[in-house]
Amino acid sequence: MSGTSPEILVSQTWAQPFDSPRSYPESADIVIIGGGIIGVSTAWFLAKRGINVALCEKGHIAGEQSGRNWGWIRQQGRDTREMPMIVESLRIWRGLEEEIGADVGFAETGCLYAARTDKQLDKYADWVKTAAEYGLDTRVISADELRQHVRSRSSIWCGALYTASDGRAEPHRAVPAIARAASREGATVLTSCAVRGLESAAGRISAVVTEHGVIKTSVVLCAAGAWTSMFCRSVGIAVPQLKVRGTVTRTAPAANVVDGCLFDDKISIRRRQDGGYTAVNSMQLEHGITPSTFRYGAKFLRAFMLDPTGMRLSIGREFVEEWNTPSTWDLDAETVFERTRVLDPEPNPKTIKSIRRNLEIVFPQLAGIEFVESWAGMIEATPDAIPVIDEAENYEGFYIATGFSGHGFGIGPGAAIAITGMLTGYGAGIELSECRLGRFFDGTPIRPQTSA
Ligand SMILES: Cc1cc2nc3c(=O)[nH]c(=O)nc-3n(C[C@H](O)[C@H](O)[C@H](O)COP(=O)(O)OP(=O)(O)OC[C@H]3O[C@@H](n4cnc5c(N)ncnc54)[C@H](O)[C@@H]3O)c2cc1C
Repeated sequence: MSGTSPEILVSQTWAQPFDSPRSYPESADIVIIGGGIIGVSTAWFLAKRGINVALCEKGHIAGEQSGRNWGWIRQQGRDTREMPMIVESLRIWRGLEEEIGADVGFAETGCLYAARTDKQLDKYADWVKTAAEYGLDTRVISADELRQHVRSRSSIWCGALYTASDGRAEPHRAVPAIARAASREGATVLTSCAVRGLESAAGRISAVVTEHGVIKTSVVLCAAGAWTSMFCRSVGIAVPQLKVRGTVTRTAPAANVVDGCLFDDKISIRRRQDGGYTAVNSMQLEHGITPSTFRYGAKFLRAFMLDPTGMRLSIGREFVEEWNTPSTWDLDAETVFERTRVLDPEPNPKTIKSIRRNLEIVFPQLAGIEFVESWAGMIEATPDAIPVIDEAENYEGFYIATGFSGHGFGIGPGAAIAITGMLTGYGAGIELSECRLGRFFDGTPIRPQTSA
């Protein structure tokens, strides 16, 4: 990563080192592609059940989305299709530190969606009914009560949606810690180990081909985040997925203005364990148009029309890069996965300026606060912003878990329980039919996430 403005002071703090074993297994019951929160949590649950699992990560654990996110663990505002998984996830997060014996920065510090207009507050209030169905403590609070949670000198808000039982954690700590726990339980976690492709026999998976050799297996989980669509396309499976860049900043420790997570149309912040803030401009997401935009764009139209101003479109380097990437490749030569060990987009300097401006308007007491780090992450989204968790049709043994669409960190452990149930055939009591891949192709109307 290179700095392009005085505010872009970067370091590689988003993922802590993980010691990968030097030998590579010849076989495994299950191979997982991807060392983000989905891959490592699934490896952990599988290993705890005594299953011989190997996880292959092309770069380092949590190098991509799972180490770059805002760190919100939010039930509030979720689509009902995700509710059972997120409720289960919170249960796991609450006991996680004790169970794995590591500090992951988890705290149940609440989540606030602050509203600037009554109309917005009414929209948020609709979600209280969903919360009640799942026994959550979500409620609408007044501007006065909001002032008890948020020390802002500004009076721009008329109230908020508030869930006290929502949490936060430190992504760069949590994901490597879960990977280490998986390792202790017997999982083989391999970093700098790109999976180039698959081998099959009679329509069923027989092995994965990695840059370090072949691992024989009959079950593969592709949890490759922003690379899933490309990987799956190379084995003949269409996964509609587009990438969106989000820019994030981290401040130095400062006065406490909020304990947990605060979302507002212009500025969203989370208090970090170190006393600083992860701060973002909530509405500035960018999609660089690529050939995939033309391939899958029509399926994303409904989601785009819900909020056409929320996404900046551009065309440039990403288009050329994807255009120049072949859709299939030889498995005995270097692939795109080794050439891009870590997807590390540049943060947008204009977005960083807007974060500072908006932060200082809402929190004048933070004026001049130091931004110690800025980075960007590539969010991967499905047309309805609901994940795909499914076995591929016509390819026995090949499973996909992807498309967490900008909110997969919090739900990660809960999703992993459901995925473990799917892979082992034991189930997990979490209904996954809404997450099937076929919904994008079988004429089912695409229902973009209905969240507050
Ligand atoms: C800026 C930003 C803010 C976000 N904020 C939040 C938030 O506050 N709360 C929340 O819940 N979610 C948030 N998210 C979303 C969340 O981070 C993701 O949904 C989640 O991390 C996805 O996890 P994953 O394991 O599916 O993918 P990833 O974390 O992207 O991991 C996939 C891994 O697969 C590896 N890989 C890919 N191809 C191969 C291959 N061929 N061989 C080997 N390895 C491969 C990649 O290197 C990568 O490490 C945010 C995301 C971003 C980018």
